[in-house]
Amino acid sequence: MTAVETDRPRVLLPPVLMYHSISPSTVPDPHRLRVHPRRLAQHLQLLRRLGLRGVSLGELVRAHDRGQDAGLVGLTFDDGYTDFLEHAVPVLQRHGMTGTVYVVAGRLGGQNEWDTGPRFDILDADQVRAVAATGQEVGSHTVTHARLAGADASVLATEVRDSRQVLEEVLQEEVRGFCYPYGSFDRAAADAVRAAGYDHACVTGDYDPGDRFTLPRCYVAPRDGWAHVVARLTRHHVRVRRRARG
Ligand SMILES: [Zn+2]
Repeated sequence: MTAVETDRPRVLLPPVLMYHSISPSTVPDPHRLRVHPRRLAQHLQLLRRLGLRGVSLGELVRAHDRGQDAGLVGLTFDDGYTDFLEHAVPVLQRHGMTGTVYVVAGRLGGQNEWDTGPRFDILDADQVRAVAATGQEVGSHTVTHARLAGADASVLATEVRDSRQVLEEVLQEEVRGFCYPYGSFDRAAADAVRAAGYDHACVTGDYDPGDRFTLPRCYVAPRDGWAHVVARLTRHHVRVRRRARG
């Protein structure tokens, strides 16, 4: 898969890791969305050993804009599950790191009913505020977890713009980050994200560096140990170096 070509400049960011649920639950996980909190802790220990610090994607992009993103890795958590507050935030705090949680704004206090697999609870408005109060970033993941590639203009406007309004209402602060559900995007979707006032957006694959509204990420699988994470970071750096040269 390759990024959609746009006339916006490419952004050569450090790697961004993509997690979903962080939980010790043993309920079957057919879509491989759940990483155990102990494993997340191992990944963050690894980053520290490598001299890296995990930060929210908003912080990573700001650091990049200042030319100061060396030594940083983006940490992102999709869908806004309650286990982010319960299990991921304590691990992040123990390691002095932050992450971005991308919340499905029309499902606050609900569940991931868009999925065929097991149900996960989604943060409610109070919990979204609690997450932000710990210094984590909250971004938008649409209103209904919609596929945006090929969506018509009215759907794009609703999913992209209204989700931002809902979360800004909840947080009483600006929401700058957006994440495409299923990594489904096209040029019209990326244009809608920019038009809605977001600062940047991310997709769900680690392909060639995209522009500011199609930033790639590295999927982290439930059983990924430190060697897998090192391989994913390395692969990303190779791609960025290749792109920077040519
Ligand atoms: Zn999602």
